[in-house]
Amino acid sequence: MQALVYKGEGQLALEDHPVPQLQEPTDAIVKVVYTTICGTDLHIMHGDVPTVTPGRILGHEGVGIVQEPGAAVSRFKKGDHVLINCITSCATCEYCRRGMYSHCTQGGWILGNTLDGTQAEYVRIPQADSSLHHVPQGVDEKALVMFSDIFPTGLECGVLNSKVQPGSSVAIVGAGPVGLAALMTSKLYSPSTIIVIDRDPKRLEIAKKLGANHIINSGETSAEEAVMKLTNKVGCDAVIEAVGVAATLEMAQDLVAPGGTIANVGVHGTSCTLKIEKLWDRNMSLTTRLVDTVTTPMLLKLFAAGGIEPGKLITHELPFKEMEKAYSTFKAAAEHEALKMLITI
Ligand code: NAD
Ligand code: ZN
Repeated sequence: MQALVYKGEGQLALEDHPVPQLQEPTDAIVKVVYTTICGTDLHIMHGDVPTVTPGRILGHEGVGIVQEPGAAVSRFKKGDHVLINCITSCATCEYCRRGMYSHCTQGGWILGNTLDGTQAEYVRIPQADSSLHHVPQGVDEKALVMFSDIFPTGLECGVLNSKVQPGSSVAIVGAGPVGLAALMTSKLYSPSTIIVIDRDPKRLEIAKKLGANHIINSGETSAEEAVMKLTNKVGCDAVIEAVGVAATLEMAQDLVAPGGTIANVGVHGTSCTLKIEKLWDRNMSLTTRLVDTVTTPMLLKLFAAGGIEPGKLITHELPFKEMEKAYSTFKAAAEHEALKMLITI
């Protein structure tokens, strides 16, 4: 089969690779139909993710068709259309029972990172019964790829962790795919206002189209001053950091209202300053977590009912044979108009 393989810092290759085989009776082999590229894949390509070693097939997002279920797989049969979670989970260990699938003790593999991923014609999915989801009848399977990672991330790590409620004021720092997924899922909770902050005017325009009440270009103006002006000098009840640099986590601490909550979603390669005196003095909370994909079944029901439009984040479509080109296009375009690239295999 053809697979996109990490060859070491800065190098990727679309090359022939053996088709994965069942290793455990709980595995399933899935034929991948749609995949996409994530900002994390770019970090991997640049050699910034030490858990990924040369030879790894990349990709942690995908929709496909079950090719071969293992003997112990009971929820799926050959031919079933499935959404693939970005992480695998057993659903029965102590952490899984607490909803912390990312800490599953029976593997807890991250596709395209600690396990071969979805940028390939076939992928082996361990613990298939709890790591795959049936595709609801009649939904757009292309759009569904957004549910492998970025929508559960925006919802779980951003919206739920920052405790968005009806009437909340929400600030989202970062209008990349994750920040925009947080924007779209925060609207499910009827906040009174959503302010999106970025320094890329094109991404801010997209945020506005997706329902942000206010946009702030922090490259041109002080986000703190602008947010205080919009909130009668109070700040926001919920602040979602969806960038992953020290400066934006520090900014988030200046935007939150007394009693409010900051949800750090970004993956920070470096230490960040905690303004602990400010957090303490104003009863602020700071939360952070890995995505667990526990909300995916709810998102699937919502999508099937027409309550959310994840396909709005797809800006480019390419065939799998142009996968190497897709990376360079995505890399070049990441600072401009590209959000999510849909790859058809
Ligand atoms: P992205 O790089 O596509 O988007 C980041 C956005 O932040 C861009 O629009 C960029 O213009 C903006 N930005 C960058 N620097 C800024 C600054 N100083 N001020 C204001 N805006 C700035 O990233 P993404 O794919 O949307 O992911 C966002 C973050 O979420 C990343 O750190 C990613 O690693 C992380 N993530 C976390 C989890 C988790 O489990 N917690 C899962 C997936 C992704
Ligand atoms: Zn588990």
